[in-house]
Amino acid sequence: MKELQEKDLKYIWHPCSQMKDYENFPPIVIKKGEGVFLEDMNGKKYLDAVSSWWVNLFGHSNKRINDAIYRQANKLEHVIFANFSHEAGIELAERIIKVVPKGLSKIFFGDNGSSAIEIALKLSFQYHQQVGKKKKRKFVALTDAYHGETLGALSVGGVDLYNQIYKPLLLDVIRVDGPDCFRCKYNQNRENCSGECFESMEKVVKEKHEEITAIIIEPMIQCAAGMKIYSPQYLKKLRVLCDKYDINFIADEVAVGFGRTGKMFGCNHAEVSPDIMCTSKGLTAGYMPLSLCLMTDRIYDAFYDDYNTMKAFLHSHSYSGNALGCAVAVETLKIFEEEDILQKNLEKSKLLKEKIENAIKDIPYVGEYRQIGMVGAIELVKDKETKEAFDWKERVGYQIYKIALEKGVLLRPLGNIVYFMPPYVIKEEEMERMVNIAKESILEYFSRK
Ligand SMILES: *Cc1c(COP(=O)(O)O)cnc(C)c1O
Repeated sequence: MKELQEKDLKYIWHPCSQMKDYENFPPIVIKKGEGVFLEDMNGKKYLDAVSSWWVNLFGHSNKRINDAIYRQANKLEHVIFANFSHEAGIELAERIIKVVPKGLSKIFFGDNGSSAIEIALKLSFQYHQQVGKKKKRKFVALTDAYHGETLGALSVGGVDLYNQIYKPLLLDVIRVDGPDCFRCKYNQNRENCSGECFESMEKVVKEKHEEITAIIIEPMIQCAAGMKIYSPQYLKKLRVLCDKYDINFIADEVAVGFGRTGKMFGCNHAEVSPDIMCTSKGLTAGYMPLSLCLMTDRIYDAFYDDYNTMKAFLHSHSYSGNALGCAVAVETLKIFEEEDILQKNLEKSKLLKEKIENAIKDIPYVGEYRQIGMVGAIELVKDKETKEAFDWKERVGYQIYKIALEKGVLLRPLGNIVYFMPPYVIKEEEMERMVNIAKESILEYFSRK
């Protein structure tokens, strides 16, 4: 493994990393994966508790999906998607429309989550230009939002860690204080909340609606912010507000889509349909880069005219509609249906909750444990009373991450938040192991401190 690590570091710049950290902590070279486990070149196994960055649903090297790729590769790997099409893309379109919130009826294909966000932003802006609402050119986004790393997506993102340095390059976005249930200013609790914190959104929109084209939101959980789960009331109110002021509701379901929150999409918790919805990550169960941006007929129709009216959406990606990706996504949807995944996840998420709630009894510094569906997060705080956070420079999460890896679990906390987002195929004994090792790692970190 050492030789490979040296070669790796000679050439490769890894994502979301300070490369200097790799001096003492070289990349773990993975030979193969199976189910929830990854195995490195030395044969050491790691339980993938974060679904390899929230993408994997049915385990690594899943037989059904492997076969689907193989079948598709032997037919067609890819074809230009302008003026051309293929069965896998068409089957995916037909299937996905049946499972998304109603009203979403047209699909634009991208190749990653950020590109789906770019598509959504451009669509909304152009839509309003073409229906004569030319002043509507600004986006509203929440504090702590995360929508990806390309410049448009980064503009609507509200996590300073990722966008601070680029601010001079970013779009002028209207930022609104989002829900913060752990440190709720209205003294409400998440489960029994009337969405009072929505007033900051209402106020801004009331004042500026003439210039607002869209509001973008991550339904139910602001994941990158630290698995900040909030009440569906917020989404309900947002739908009403967007209707009232003719603003597009963009749902970024990239992370929460495909069953992660216990329902197929985050929006389902509030029984609302967005005007535009972005999906990626779980869409291909962690196999292929693919994304879909879905929208209503109303938006689609504003682009539909003779070519020389210049109303077309001239956006494209080389890999738009990639056939391999589509075939995997079709298989993913089939697995959901045929193996009754949402129902099974209900039981698994109960087990997960039991195990973690039991484990945290012994852990100091737990500010909160929160969970929705197959996402559970422990927020560690310096002071339970005041909820004061640990200084980011302590890198609490990073230290725990390293300890857990040593013990064979891939956790990768977000700051002080240790979270679990395992593949849906995780078995009870694997869950037990994941939670126990997480607990041991946290305890070990604090005992060393
Ligand atoms: C990951 C993520 C994105 C960006 O997707 P990429 O495929 O990484 O570009 C956008 N929005 C949310 C909510 C995400 O979690």
